[in-house]
Amino acid sequence: MANAERLYQHVVIVGGGAGGLELATRLGRRYGKKGLKVTLVDRETTHVWKPLLHEVATGSLDPSIDEVSYRSQARQAGFSFQIGQLEAVDRPQRCVRLAPVFNAEGERLLPERTLYYDYLVIAVGSQTNDFGVPGVKEHCCFLDSREQADNFHHRLLDTCLKLSGQRAQGERFLRVAIVGAGATGVELSAELYNAAQELMSYGLSKVDPRNMKVTLIEAGPQILGALPPRIANAAKVELRKLGVDVRENTQVVEARDGALITGNGEEIQAHLIVWAAGVKAPELLKKLDGLETNNRNQLVVGPDLRTSRDERIFALGDCAACERRDGEGGLVPPRAQAAHQMASHLYRHFGQILKGEDIPGYEYKDYGSLVSLSKYSTVGNLMGNLTKGSVMVEGHLARLVYVSLYRMHQVALFGYIKTALVALVARINRVIRPRLKLH
Ligand SMILES: Cc1cc2nc3c(=O)[nH]c(=O)nc-3n(C[C@H](O)[C@H](O)[C@H](O)COP(=O)(O)OP(=O)(O)OC[C@H]3O[C@@H](n4cnc5c(N)ncnc54)[C@H](O)[C@@H]3O)c2cc1C
Repeated sequence: MANAERLYQHVVIVGGGAGGLELATRLGRRYGKKGLKVTLVDRETTHVWKPLLHEVATGSLDPSIDEVSYRSQARQAGFSFQIGQLEAVDRPQRCVRLAPVFNAEGERLLPERTLYYDYLVIAVGSQTNDFGVPGVKEHCCFLDSREQADNFHHRLLDTCLKLSGQRAQGERFLRVAIVGAGATGVELSAELYNAAQELMSYGLSKVDPRNMKVTLIEAGPQILGALPPRIANAAKVELRKLGVDVRENTQVVEARDGALITGNGEEIQAHLIVWAAGVKAPELLKKLDGLETNNRNQLVVGPDLRTSRDERIFALGDCAACERRDGEGGLVPPRAQAAHQMASHLYRHFGQILKGEDIPGYEYKDYGSLVSLSKYSTVGNLMGNLTKGSVMVEGHLARLVYVSLYRMHQVALFGYIKTALVALVARINRVIRPRLKLH
């Protein structure tokens, strides 16, 4: 049905991640019965909070317990859900086109569809940037989606099993190379040692943590480049204690089957290679009916999160290029807390948007960054740029705050009572289920 014939206003949100799902939930709850139709579009059927994907990859987290079904969330929060991949936007007609949906056997389940909108919010996140390095697409694993994290998990289990059989023939080490020592690379390194220990205790592997060789490779001068050096150093000390071979100032120039080649010609062998060296927004955004993008494919937005060339189209989260207004310069970083804040900003001012009024500009508040080194440690800083000097935290307090970031996301989706119940179920599961996903 075209725009003019509708009696209600329709907001379409594409991307049900850290930002998009929170916005759909909150708008659905507030306006669902008040003449605003909210439709969320995602190419998946369930949502797993992306910062947990490294735990899914090692098996520390079973995503079938933590995932949120979009349809169930839609029913509870009063919005509609459409499965499908965004393919195109027609700005004059104010509609989006969704690709057909196929099952695993290639059978077409849904045809191409068109959704008309009054307001469109694009929140499709980001994906790993391979920077055009040869061989990366073919030989490296990525952690951009649940499917990729599951895939890594299966390859990890298979490799452990295979190595158990080969040990008599002299192969002692499980070798994993991780390119990119941002939060993902650092957290995954530590999780792998935890996984090795657990897998051995369940008899699934003879690879004990002492026989685990993780090489963490960073092109920049410091791991966790976005964090202050003292925090990066604290993380590095912990990683080295675990046995991680941390290589800074090391450029990877090629990926091959089972090996990485560095700028000085060294070959780093690995059974599994993970590429986690920075992110860019999906290529698709460059082709959205002339919307402005930057060199990382992000949609250029103003302080009010409206795209620069269309005031009815908003972008938030990793896919939005939004100038920082907190005096730090540069763009708002691609982080879950930024996606959460942008979703909250739009939600708070949606009433004004519906009346065609201007809304205040969004200002990023950096509450700090925490990096979880599995059960071994958590390090980070709190307050970020909110105070003159950020406060370094470590240990139990840091772990508590780290976990509370996820709980805040759950509160936005489920409210306080259900989040408390979900947290309780997670605790019970820790007692009655294996500590690692073993299949
Ligand atoms: C392993 C890992 C660890 C991380 N750890 C942290 C951390 O500790 N702290 C932190 O602040 N940040 C962390 N991040 C970054 C954080 O996850 C992202 O910044 C955040 O998820 C961005 O939210 P978003 O809503 O923009 O996008 P996302 O959460 O990525 O959601 C995007 C959604 O869009 C959907 N989508 C994509 N393309 C299409 C399409 N064409 N059509 C339809 N749907 C589409 C996807 O299926 C997805 O559901 C981590 C990321 C990773 C990968």
